[in-house]
Amino acid sequence: MRVTSIGADPRLAGGRLAVDLDALAANWRDLAARSKPARCSAVVKANAYGLGVEHVVPVLLTAGCESFFVALPEEGVAVRRIAPKADVFILNGVHEHSAATMVEAGLIPVLSSLDQIELWSRYGRERGIHPPCAIGIDTGMNRLGLTAEEALTLRKRNMEEHLVSPVLVMSHLACGDRADHPMNATQRESFQRIAAAFDDIDSSLANSAGVMLGDSFLFDVTRPGIAIYGGCASQDRPNPMRPVITLEARIVQLRHAAKGETVSYGATQTLTRDTDIAVVSVGYADGYPRAGSGAGVPLREAVVSGQYGFIGDIRVPLLGRITMDLTLFDVTDVLADALEQGWIELIGPNIPLDDAAEAAGTIGYELLTGLGPRYERRYLKAVES
Ligand SMILES: *Cc1c(COP(=O)(O)O)cnc(C)c1O
Repeated sequence: MRVTSIGADPRLAGGRLAVDLDALAANWRDLAARSKPARCSAVVKANAYGLGVEHVVPVLLTAGCESFFVALPEEGVAVRRIAPKADVFILNGVHEHSAATMVEAGLIPVLSSLDQIELWSRYGRERGIHPPCAIGIDTGMNRLGLTAEEALTLRKRNMEEHLVSPVLVMSHLACGDRADHPMNATQRESFQRIAAAFDDIDSSLANSAGVMLGDSFLFDVTRPGIAIYGGCASQDRPNPMRPVITLEARIVQLRHAAKGETVSYGATQTLTRDTDIAVVSVGYADGYPRAGSGAGVPLREAVVSGQYGFIGDIRVPLLGRITMDLTLFDVTDVLADALEQGWIELIGPNIPLDDAAEAAGTIGYELLTGLGPRYERRYLKAVES
């Protein structure tokens, strides 16, 4: 096993994040197999969902991934440096301020309005070049994208005037995480018309959840993100992906408090028994959301279970409010030996990412992308023989 450690000094860090790059590669290969005969790309926006694009992209390239999607031009430039030959798509499109960067770095913007198409076409015409692009179609999100009618009209005009040279036409599912949601079929049918009109170029509809929806959602290229990182893509079936991250917090103090005393800010939680408390040096500044507090946070009232940790195989409930740099756990039931190793698992083998997210009233995506800069980050990878 090769371990690459970056970020905070391992001797001093308040928390540590391990990223299993073998699991990540296996997840991508699994998604690629599910995507067949479509080709599987990888969405690596937001620094590969917070896990580090410079560590994730090389592993995906080795696994066989040839195209990547990011949100912003600078993210694309970072991927281009690592993957000189890959197709790199920019989901948030092109604007006056970013056209030059796109062309210089060979990035492919997803054009999502007639204005952007006009901009890209003018930019190319003025320079006598024909830079590639993708066309984004809105089929129901009302986020980015041309309407279906605009796209079909453009297609006619495009053939006559060669306004731009799209290599891909794509849309995005609003409710793919629920297999029985009627919007999935509506969006697929709407997109099918577009794909038929643009039948000489690739079409793409499925994110991770879309891949799980089955063959009729695959088109030519799939675009999974969260499932690569081990997150759950579908709300109505078990997560088939391997977990990728383990997050642990260092115990910085053990203390004893008596039944009837209160803990943390707001004195919102009163101890119902004599309690051993472990204080760990991870808090909401590290992306461990305050809404996952054990008590007394209004948002948290929607999620009855609240946050918890694990020491060995013992579940340790979180106590009171999560603070900026410190969080409290009830370790009364943990043996002294187990406490001595000094760490509490926050996400990992015993606590799936999506359970930790749900306990804070959020989703795995937000938890992953919010993990802060104060962790020691360890990238684990089997040594190739
Ligand atoms: C983020 C994103 C994806 C990846 O979605 P996941 O749910 O993480 O698989 C795919 N397509 C678009 C347009 C996106 O914005």
